Amino acid sequence: MECGKKTVPLREELWTASGDQAGLIGSGCTLCGEIFFPKKKSAFCPHCQHEGLQDATLGSRGRITTFTMVHQQPAGGFYKGPVPYAYGVVQLPDGVNVETLFTGCRPDEIRTGLEARLAIEKLYEEDDGTEVLTYKFVPTV
Ligand SMILES: [Zn+2]
Repeated sequence: MECGKKTVPLREELWTASGDQAGLIGSGCTLCGEIFFPKKKSAFCPHCQHEGLQDATLGSRGRITTFTMVHQQPAGGFYKGPVPYAYGVVQLPDGVNVETLFTGCRPDEIRTGLEARLAIEKLYEEDDGTEVLTYKFVPTV
């Protein structure tokens, strides 16, 4: 992030705060304990059918369970970041699986089983210079 740049999140309510204090926002069920990410729009728990979901701040560290390299811009125009990029799943201690981009290391350093920590970073820049931020995970290599 450069100083003085206007920034906007890719989507509202994906994470809280920023920098080292950042945490992803999910939904936790008060009855069965299931955790969902991203957070659900309603209080309905698809796991146990209870109307008891509440916002839950998730841990900012987890383990890489799977990953791949994406070499071409995905079709559909929803992804406007750079290619190639590393993409995969990090499992948080809460048990929730988070689909994420990886950053902060060379692609050939990424391994399943590695620890990774949450980072909020620029995904791309709008034509007016506004930086669009998203969450990513930094593998501990
Ligand atoms: Zn439930």
